[in-house]
Amino acid sequence: MTRARVLLLTAALGPLDYRVPQGTEAPLGSVVVAPLGPRRMGGAVWEDASFGAPDPVGDNRLRNLYEVVPVPPVPAPLRRLVEWTSDYYLAPPGAVLRMVLPGAAFADARRPIIEYRATGALPPRMTPQRTVALEKIGGRQGTVRELAALAEVSDGVIRGLVQAGALEAVSVSADTPYPEPDPAFAPPALSAEQAAAAGELRDAVAAARFETLLLDGVTGSGKTEVYMEAIAAAVETGGQALVLLPEIALTEPMLTRFAARFGCEPVAWHSGLRSTERRRAWHAIARGDAKIVVGARSALFLPYARLGLIVVDEAHETSFKQEDGVHYHARDVAVMRGAFEKLPVILASATPALESLAQVEAGRYRHIVLPARYGGATLPDLSAIDMRIDPPDRGRWLAPPLVDALGDRLPKGEQSLLFLNRRGFAPLTLCRTCGHRIQCPNCTAWMVEHRLVHRLACHHCGHVMPPPRLCPECEDEDSLVACGPGVERIADEVAERFPEARTAIVTSDTLWSPAKAAEFVDAVEGGLVDIIIGTQLVTKGYHFPNLTLVGVVDADLGLDGGDLRASERTFQQIAQVAGRAGRGVKPGEVLIQTRVPDAPVMAALVANDREGFYAAEAAARRQAGAPPYGRFAALVISSEEMEVARGVAQRLGEKAPVADGLAIYGPAPAPLAMLRGRHRFRLLLHAPRSFDLQGAIRDWVGRIDWPAKARLAIDIDPYSFV
Ligand code: ADP
Ligand code: ZN
Repeated sequence: MTRARVLLLTAALGPLDYRVPQGTEAPLGSVVVAPLGPRRMGGAVWEDASFGAPDPVGDNRLRNLYEVVPVPPVPAPLRRLVEWTSDYYLAPPGAVLRMVLPGAAFADARRPIIEYRATGALPPRMTPQRTVALEKIGGRQGTVRELAALAEVSDGVIRGLVQAGALEAVSVSADTPYPEPDPAFAPPALSAEQAAAAGELRDAVAAARFETLLLDGVTGSGKTEVYMEAIAAAVETGGQALVLLPEIALTEPMLTRFAARFGCEPVAWHSGLRSTERRRAWHAIARGDAKIVVGARSALFLPYARLGLIVVDEAHETSFKQEDGVHYHARDVAVMRGAFEKLPVILASATPALESLAQVEAGRYRHIVLPARYGGATLPDLSAIDMRIDPPDRGRWLAPPLVDALGDRLPKGEQSLLFLNRRGFAPLTLCRTCGHRIQCPNCTAWMVEHRLVHRLACHHCGHVMPPPRLCPECEDEDSLVACGPGVERIADEVAERFPEARTAIVTSDTLWSPAKAAEFVDAVEGGLVDIIIGTQLVTKGYHFPNLTLVGVVDADLGLDGGDLRASERTFQQIAQVAGRAGRGVKPGEVLIQTRVPDAPVMAALVANDREGFYAAEAAARRQAGAPPYGRFAALVISSEEMEVARGVAQRLGEKAPVADGLAIYGPAPAPLAMLRGRHRFRLLLHAPRSFDLQGAIRDWVGRIDWPAKARLAIDIDPYSFV
């Protein structure tokens, strides 16, 4: 009899043993469907020796596998990566495997899927709901469920529209092959510096062994053009290349750029894909037919058949860290994947993370530098506006020098960008009479006013409510005032000052899909926008040659909050957004509004002294034993009942491990003491690099009985300290 040990796609269980039915083969890595109680559950066949080699279950108690799915087995190096990720981040292996085998893996790619699209005909009976639904669907196509989600109606409404002839069925094959990218389609003529860098990258791909290369080039130096040469090298030898982007909004412009270089769009992978697209992409990736994949961090765990290269673009971005479920950092796991699969990993950035530079210094990463912008474009000139000396008018947010600079660009037809990392109109609504502040009922957070959609919204849990007319506390009428600016409020000020200017607000509220992002790029490139007002979403990637002015509305915003990386992040963010200015022939100017122009990070930005800033920051981190010279881990205990969470946190605190060099802070209410209706208590661990934090945590939490009502989230190497 043959048996198989299977890792199932559930966070709750370790591997389980099954019987392989007669006449079926289920070698290691096979993707299978197995019975679990009354359910069917997917999984993969795994080594007996993994996960502490649990004792086999007796033959007589084995159940038969239902099915071996006809897709390539999960390769051994990827199985090792799943184990490593599970071990390092203290995450259930089944939860990690789910990123390798999403639902698309189990869907038969040969079976067509029925999608629906508008016919243009209106149903004989129109209802307001149907009108809105058809409007929201527009020219898009999707399954009943996807269209219902898109239109924010029930499945029934969509089915009704199908029956009424307003939507028609389309059969979509998920099996259609993708066009093949052509490495020789349109290679650019590289500058000497670029060619040297590209040569090193190409050689690394040809060597087909593990190496991490930090492609460190100023904004506009052509990092993308250069790493595309490495991708060409991978494709030339029949391999696959994966490009990870920090933001799904960046995928669309990147697809266009790749199409210009390789003659066809690469395969996209992100949460915005329709189920047909997801199914088609997964199977092509697993077969090795998807040659170039551009995706968000979830693309990292897919089972590429012949991966030859991973590129992490904007590698310093903290959005590569996943903050729920498996708390992994895609940049770090990408490097591990390179190690397991023996392939080069390129980290591209104009402002590398201190962690990456420390690896260069230690001789573990190769440093490839592009010191100048391409085509003779110069780096922009940065200066600070001291808001204590040059304050904006009362109730305004733009200081006179910035207003003048904006006014100067308009008649010249040049574009400007105002950066403020705050969505909505105002971050806080306050009652003038009693001082009451409107807070989210589920979170320790203020409700943010979004005036364009007439809503107050919580940015943590998504709770929304109409703006109240009366103060909820003292019931005074018309006493509520908006405090502080968000991008919408800046847009209002711009509209008042420059009524003729055409503006675009760019946030995740306005650029919520790749298509919207493409629309925005077209508008700016077509000269239809004079002033862009945006959050961090506009700080990276975009190349608008006619944009000559960048104004940073509140450079101090990221500095408070006690995050250990606050200065570094501020430096990166401002350097990145500054990098949007003067990318063409006209030079760029960057004005930074700050109340602390003497703070080291502001001074370094203005003096263009990156080396000085990093050196000082590294020294301070070393002194504090902070990453990359020391390590942190956070345990967050949460429960809907405050006393349950507090009780568990206290018991954990009492049993805290004691070890040389290990410091444990807490338990204390987390800075975000309530989130999505759950009370949160936090313990923070701080240790030297060499300390086995994971081992200590594993022993520790194993010694506690967990009440069902409490949940534990473990965050190794945290980036968020709330
Ligand atoms: P980075 O990623 O370093 O900010 P990009 O790769 O986006 O830089 O390059 C900036 C701009 O310069 C892009 O429009 C790019 O197409 C162009 N560019 C860079 N190198 C070349 C080259 N060798 N030939 C033609 N255009 C180039
Ligand atoms: Zn909330």
